[in-house]
Amino acid sequence: MSKLVTITSFTDSLEANIVKGRLEVESIPVFLSNEYYINVYWGISNALGGVQLKVPIEYEKQAKMLIKEIEEGEYDISSQLEAKDKISCPQCDSIDVKKNHLFWKIPFIALHFLSILLPFTHHSYRCKQCQKQWKEDAAYSNNTIIFYILLATAMLIGFVAFMIIILGSLAEMLTR
Ligand SMILES: [Zn+2]
Repeated sequence: MSKLVTITSFTDSLEANIVKGRLEVESIPVFLSNEYYINVYWGISNALGGVQLKVPIEYEKQAKMLIKEIEEGEYDISSQLEAKDKISCPQCDSIDVKKNHLFWKIPFIALHFLSILLPFTHHSYRCKQCQKQWKEDAAYSNNTIIFYILLATAMLIGFVAFMIIILGSLAEMLTR
């Protein structure tokens, strides 16, 4: 194993991994250091000198050249990073999209009784370019919904049992 040299560093590991992937496409072995610590404690990134990207010394020149190209916008990494959390219009591909948050509640009687509301978030979008509107799949997974239904059922059973006990003891008092 030849000596590793630090080529560059990144404050966040997502960007470091994109550059790593790009270098690996060119068959350059890449090692990232501090990545784990920075994922866990993002605040210490600067203190550790960021996520350091290292390559074996014989790849140093090639790696530096590629990173220079990347920095000069040859591979447009920033747009890849943005695309990760940007929604685009299914009709015209524009990313000039407005997001609306819709909240709706499932009126379980037992939950209403206990003033617990279930806000299921649901997003809808409108394209500012072509005015197309569409909806995203439910923000909660099926498992989460099943969990809430079971919780609601358990609370309802608990409430019914409580009422039976109360009514039972009332009835007992009245029949004495
Ligand atoms: Zn559109």
